[in-house]
Amino acid sequence: GESSISESPLHPRRQSRRIMVGPVPVGGGAPISVQSMTNTKTANVGATLQQIAELTAAGCDIVRVAVPSQEDADALPRIVAKSPIPVIADIHFQSRYVFQAIDAGCAAVRVNPGNIRKFDEVGPSICQAATDAGISLRIGVNAGSLDKELYAKYGGPTPEALVASAMKEARMFEDVGFRDFKISVKHHDPITMVETYRLLAKQGDWPLHLGVTEAGPAWQGTIKSCLAFGALLAEGIGDTIRVSLSAPPVEEVKVGCKILEYLGLRARHFDIISCPSCGRAQVDVIALANEVTNGLSGITAPIRVAVMGCIVNGPGEAREADLGVASGNGKGQIFIKGKVIETVPEDRIVDTLLKHANAIAEQMEADGLVT
Ligand code: SF4
Repeated sequence: GESSISESPLHPRRQSRRIMVGPVPVGGGAPISVQSMTNTKTANVGATLQQIAELTAAGCDIVRVAVPSQEDADALPRIVAKSPIPVIADIHFQSRYVFQAIDAGCAAVRVNPGNIRKFDEVGPSICQAATDAGISLRIGVNAGSLDKELYAKYGGPTPEALVASAMKEARMFEDVGFRDFKISVKHHDPITMVETYRLLAKQGDWPLHLGVTEAGPAWQGTIKSCLAFGALLAEGIGDTIRVSLSAPPVEEVKVGCKILEYLGLRARHFDIISCPSCGRAQVDVIALANEVTNGLSGITAPIRVAVMGCIVNGPGEAREADLGVASGNGKGQIFIKGKVIETVPEDRIVDTLLKHANAIAEQMEADGLVT
């Protein structure tokens, strides 16, 4: 994985017990992992593996695939064999797919005991099969699938109701001696979600999978996830995260990785510092910032590039960055580590920055600064 930092600069991590999702540790002080879920038909093995490769390249540590049908269950061995990251099978309703996923070599299975038929009867054998295979499980509720009794008792999917549901499930597993599971208690509202995880975090040492469920399209969903994960992670709560967006899953991974990077919980990659521009700007800062970001977003070196519209704050910020441009008179002054190394016309700013950025990145790699 790409994550290497396990301690937050903001707050000590909550002490959770550790489980393994294949080779990826979750909880017990392990670096916080980023998850996503494919949106291809799982039975379409080629398309699913293609998407998993994209997610992996974007920094995803663990991937989940939905298993709603027999064909999907049958595809699991081929997906597991070729996936570069551990695969979690996501199973609702049909317990027989759980056993098939375990046989297929999945690193973990997500089950929702609330909607698995006759869970009381089948639960212990699921735990036994997971124990025999040495894999972990994820349990927990989404607000939308809270059991009817608890819904009625608490008057809706309140934090107390969601936590009661999760703890009931956890007890069912622990009563048969199974402890290798993590819990999620997802809600679409960031405030309810934060309150729910806070409450759950006090009740036991389970590793926690954070998610704001059904968070919406990329823009709204990103904001909700940043707020909710930010609040919890800044308190040390959370062991693995999944940003859920009505957008291509690779966007979820990018947002998840950036949340961890900006919270100091994952090694930083490329970052841009750019001004909002104002009436003083002498170049199109917004276009420049976007072009530079697009040109460098794949870079793994922790390089900081400043794009500044004028010479008021420009040179100062550009000096703090590895590389920067401050503009004036339709020209760009290119800085490296605070020194102006050349001045280029506006239409050559992007190319010049990219050229220098790539050279700096190569040097960082040669110096062993890239994780
Ligand atoms: Fe305005 Fe210059 Fe500041 Fe950019 S750097 S916001 S152009 S004053």
